[in-house]
Amino acid sequence: MAELRPPIESGAPDPMPYMHPVMVKNYGKWSFHSHPKPGVLYHRAESGDEVWTVKAGTARQMDHYTIRELADIADQYGDGFVRFTARSNIEYMVADGSKVEPLIKALSDKGYPIGGTANSVSMIAHTQGWLHCDIPGTDASGVVKALMDELYDDFVKCEMPNRVKMSTSCCEINCGGQADIAIIVQHTKPPKINHDLVANVCERPSVVARCPVAAIRPALVNGKPSLEVDEKKCICCGACFPPCPPMQINDPEHSKIAIWVGGKNSNARSKPTFHKLVASGLPNSAPRWPEVAEVVKKILATYKADGKPWERMIDWIDRIGWPAFFEKTGLPFTKYHIDNWRGGRANLNASAHIRF
Ligand code: SF4
Ligand code: SF4
Repeated sequence: MAELRPPIESGAPDPMPYMHPVMVKNYGKWSFHSHPKPGVLYHRAESGDEVWTVKAGTARQMDHYTIRELADIADQYGDGFVRFTARSNIEYMVADGSKVEPLIKALSDKGYPIGGTANSVSMIAHTQGWLHCDIPGTDASGVVKALMDELYDDFVKCEMPNRVKMSTSCCEINCGGQADIAIIVQHTKPPKINHDLVANVCERPSVVARCPVAAIRPALVNGKPSLEVDEKKCICCGACFPPCPPMQINDPEHSKIAIWVGGKNSNARSKPTFHKLVASGLPNSAPRWPEVAEVVKKILATYKADGKPWERMIDWIDRIGWPAFFEKTGLPFTKYHIDNWRGGRANLNASAHIRF
């Protein structure tokens, strides 16, 4: 019998070879952990072994000089082991408590902020943006950089009622995920179709099938096969743009930014939740997005002042109610915040059939 070809592993690599040896030895056998100070975690294993973790913020998109610098710090001041978190922080694990302060000093001297643990504002999880993706309506990295510059103190101090996890999404449909505060691109006009290109670039049935509200139909335009959009149905989601770039939805003026709050993946104390829209139509104003920063800071300041210890953003809102959230933050409540869409039965593209 022919030998079976081994599978090609293209997912996450086996973490064990890269893990701190004390963590490998005590894997799954920890007795408790604590939080000695902002940016530092302490874990004690059942065996009595100890590990300290020092967390620092990074810029996420890093040149190799920066990565070498971070690695040199690990070799010189740590135990030579690091890991990057999902929110682009870097964590150094050391088995000797006396290494913690020199490690913090070495990172601080090079300008890396220490924090992001416990009830701080952690680094914003950001999507790929212009560097890696082909459909962004804004640069996630830019929004994150501009905002974290303003939220530096909230990263290095633990003064929030509970953890604050923020995210950005540079389109309306794909990565990003749930967050206490999410900054999401918001298209406000249907796509503009370049009919000369559709036939050459797009698989029309796939594009028709992508639309969640069945607003796209094949059409002949100037004798060429193309597509048309029923603009009354279109909800400006942008789902047609990735499979068909000639359906250009990004627009310097009409692609805006919206802020959503109250999402979380954690099931600690309360169940996971979806975030909800609280501010829309903010200008997509690179390079510093001041209008977005103002709204985010307003929400954070209100939560910090009004939230009780251990309340996540949504727990706080559930306690005070959404009307009080809008009153206390001073954000305007408009008709666009009311989810009254009842078109599902008639409109929603729930069928696997392609309509022509
Ligand atoms: S959020 Fe959308 S545009 Fe941004 S990286 Fe993900 S898929 Fe691409
Ligand atoms: S996929 Fe979205 S943006 Fe494109 S036509 Fe349908 S509703 Fe409009």
